[in-house]
Amino acid sequence: MELFDSHAHYNDEKFDDDRDTIIKEAYNSGITTIINAGYSLESSKKAIEIANQYKFMYATVGVSPNDIEDLKGNYIEDIEELAKSYKVVAIGEIGLDYYWNKENKEKQKEIFMEQIKLANKLDLPIVIHTREAVMDTIDILKKIECKKRGVFHCCPLNRELVKEALKLGFYISFAGPVTFKNSKNAAEIINLVPIERILIETDSPYLSPEPVRGTRNDSRNVKYIAQKIADIKGLTVEEIAKQTYKNAQKIFERKI
Ligand SMILES: [Zn+2]
Repeated sequence: MELFDSHAHYNDEKFDDDRDTIIKEAYNSGITTIINAGYSLESSKKAIEIANQYKFMYATVGVSPNDIEDLKGNYIEDIEELAKSYKVVAIGEIGLDYYWNKENKEKQKEIFMEQIKLANKLDLPIVIHTREAVMDTIDILKKIECKKRGVFHCCPLNRELVKEALKLGFYISFAGPVTFKNSKNAAEIINLVPIERILIETDSPYLSPEPVRGTRNDSRNVKYIAQKIADIKGLTVEEIAKQTYKNAQKIFERKI
């Protein structure tokens, strides 16, 4: 069985001691494609540098709503420059986060929109981070069409958000929280999403799924997300692995 981890952060310092070992172990255990996600200029650069070392790893570049405060100069040009790397498959993670930052909503929106425009210019999909900002996120996506669509990464288990995201043509990526015992509506939300529109991810090193919750996460744990979706959909884990792999290949189509 081959699995596609559509969102991980091997650019995080929590992997500094054993990054190469973990990445190789993940690959050898069947995680045969990994997207290494940037969230700031620095981490995006690092995401590409790491992806360059593995033929099965790609990268996204972008600035997340939690990393906009120290942006200076023409950051859009900087992201565009990074996106020239053939390893870059999307602009992300970008979006809105009113959980961590409530004071700069207008600035968050502006930077989200600028990066969507860049994705359109470069003909790339986007990877969205959204937290406690459902309405504003949907409003923006209705206002500016994302030509290549994209993915709601670690999608919040919110019915309205998922329905609107599907209507707009986006993919829904599920992460560790769907396995948590306190995620009461995980089954309801997973059942809302057709299997052709589901991606799976770890968001490593964060959000380890059950039964390894609380430990440092890595791509090998994506199997627990696949299993959870399989149980809810009444399918085999192999079927989920195969379909989510196909979906991820479709949305992150290579530019070369
Ligand atoms: Zn992330």
